[in-house]
Amino acid sequence: MATTTKNKVAAKTSRYNELRKMLEERRRELMNAVQGKMRDVRSAEGKDREVLDQGESSEVDIQEDIEFALIQMKSETLNKIDAALRRLEEGTYGDCFECGDEISGARLRALPFAVRCKDCEEARETAEQRERLLAQKRGSSALFFDMSN
Ligand SMILES: [Zn+2]
Repeated sequence: MATTTKNKVAAKTSRYNELRKMLEERRRELMNAVQGKMRDVRSAEGKDREVLDQGESSEVDIQEDIEFALIQMKSETLNKIDAALRRLEEGTYGDCFECGDEISGARLRALPFAVRCKDCEEARETAEQRERLLAQKRGSSALFFDMSN
């Protein structure tokens, strides 16, 4: 009895450590990418600007816009990771939103922000598909109705 509880606690702790490590690695990768990109953008801004003609410089602008959008996306992901780490501390990260079961480690590695276990996600997708089909049917009969008018 006592050993079962102990094993359970040990399993919880190793899952916690594993998830924490996974999130922190991702966080570090993103931080490096964001900081690297910021440096690139800043150094590109300083030089080359004056020697470019109008066309080239607007291409640089577009490039910078893309870079900026990428940085923004990555910062948003960083925020999500921070939130996930906070949830992990609270003990709510990695539990399925629907059934409360643990989401498998493999699934969380592939989708760190998954809020449902595989089963619940599949059930939801099936339900959504059915909804879409129903909506389509309704849509086409409405169209048919309109045409007969
Ligand atoms: Zn579930």
